[in-house]
Amino acid sequence: MSFKAKIGIGANLGDARHTVSLAIARLAQLPQTSLTAQSSLYQTAPVDAEGDDYVNAVVEIHTALTAASLLLSLQELELAFGRERPYRHAPRTLDLDLLLYGDQQIETDTLTVPHPRMTERAFVLLPLLQIDPLVDIPGKGPAHQFADAVAAQAIQQIT
Ligand code: ATP
Ligand code: CA
Ligand code: CA
Repeated sequence: MSFKAKIGIGANLGDARHTVSLAIARLAQLPQTSLTAQSSLYQTAPVDAEGDDYVNAVVEIHTALTAASLLLSLQELELAFGRERPYRHAPRTLDLDLLLYGDQQIETDTLTVPHPRMTERAFVLLPLLQIDPLVDIPGKGPAHQFADAVAAQAIQQIT
């Protein structure tokens, strides 16, 4: 059985653009997983966070990994890119968030899907809608209905 998942990627330390590109390549190599879509890269001012501008993207994968093991793989990848968590919302070399996993709603100690803050963030919504304009957020409805509310957030497509 395989699931369609969406992953939000962000980086704002070091060569963020390079990191995001490499991270996408590494996601494509996860076991039992294929990369089926990738957004452009976007540059965004930090929201709820500090430091330099972010580079963001969203990818779609098809994967036979469970949501829990996918999260572990994402966290391993963050560590491989030198992710540290000195404090909440600190600048980061790489952040990988599991946005959507099939049509599932998941609530465990370590994983909430859909990602609870995805509808408030232009840097998630715009790349997501680019690769899947009709995407539905389980429990919330079509993602595009949230686009107007984030229209004031500065975001620029860079690729
Ligand atoms: P935000 O979640 O607001 O984007 P963040 O990405 O900076 O903030 P992190 O420090 O990367 O937060 O993650 C904190 C914890 O969030 C992780 O340890 C992980 O267990 C948990 N988590 C819950 N749901 C998710 C999800 N859908 N994707 C990634 N991590 C999640
Ligand atoms: Ca995040
Ligand atoms: Ca995260």
